[in-house]
Amino acid sequence: MGRPAPTQKRVESMSNGPEVLTPRSATEAIELFGDGGDTAIVGGGTILVPELRLGSARPARALMLHRAGLAGVSKDGGRLTIGAMTPLNALASLADPIAACVSHIADLEIRGQATLGGNLCARNTDAPRGDLQGVLIALGASVRSVGAGGERTEPTEEFLANRDDRLVLDVSFDLPSAGAYAYLDRAHTHEYTALAVSAVRTSDGTIRLGANGAGPHGLRLPSAEAAAANHAAAGAAALADVALFDDAIASAWYREKTLPVLVRRALDQLEDAA
Ligand SMILES: Cc1cc2nc3c(=O)[nH]c(=O)nc-3n(C[C@H](O)[C@H](O)[C@H](O)COP(=O)(O)OP(=O)(O)OC[C@H]3O[C@@H](n4cnc5c(N)ncnc54)[C@H](O)[C@@H]3O)c2cc1C
Repeated sequence: MGRPAPTQKRVESMSNGPEVLTPRSATEAIELFGDGGDTAIVGGGTILVPELRLGSARPARALMLHRAGLAGVSKDGGRLTIGAMTPLNALASLADPIAACVSHIADLEIRGQATLGGNLCARNTDAPRGDLQGVLIALGASVRSVGAGGERTEPTEEFLANRDDRLVLDVSFDLPSAGAYAYLDRAHTHEYTALAVSAVRTSDGTIRLGANGAGPHGLRLPSAEAAAANHAAAGAAALADVALFDDAIASAWYREKTLPVLVRRALDQLEDAA
């Protein structure tokens, strides 16, 4: 018997489980994903694998990205591109707000497994997940994805509002001149962050603000940005930009009281970082 053909190697079936697809390149991942119907994309699997094992996710196909070559950070002039499969701990040496955010996600072991793409695409359950969403919004990052209609590159906030059946390939952004991250701290490393605010000063001096835990996914804070010259006023203005909610770790009331404080702190830190 000769060696199995590549297509036999990368498409396996699990009894009573999804068809498992293991692409060996980005091109193959895009081809196998197609329009993405009923396909679970497995990044690091820290969220998805337990769901697949417990049966709370029952997709027809599971696209395993660990061999698709989508990991890595590259710099082209002042622009940084991060592949979807880059593990979170590889982002810890980048500038704030990325580094500060990543160092507060779970623990070292999970950060070694969890990926940028998985964090960007994580959905809230009984706590906000996807802490990098607000960070990438503040950075003005573009998300490159494929799916029905082909490749799309769009601002993070637009991607998050319309992300069903998209395979993220990478994100890219211009390096900021300063960044800051303010969050509600909780003692245990396995606790999620109930609310966080990222602040960025771009190379042309524009201030951008993003929040996590203030809506169904990461949100930009345009009213707070418009008032950013006065940090306290920006904090108060941020309440117009969010859709606060109760969940297992914080009430909407608590988030309403703490969001203005975090906006002010993030802007104070940003000023100090200049
Ligand atoms: C103990 C513990 C603590 C945690 N603490 C935090 C925390 O503090 N903050 C936080 O944000 N998260 C936390 N998490 C959740 C999770 O570990 C992270 O969000 C992680 O970054 C998810 O990445 P992943 O690669 O493992 O995602 P996966 O489990 O692989 O996928 C998560 C979701 O993203 C989708 N996905 C993955 N890759 C792609 C892609 N390239 N394109 C499109 N969709 C994709 C999957 O289909 C799935 O819907 C915690 C988890 C645990 C177990």
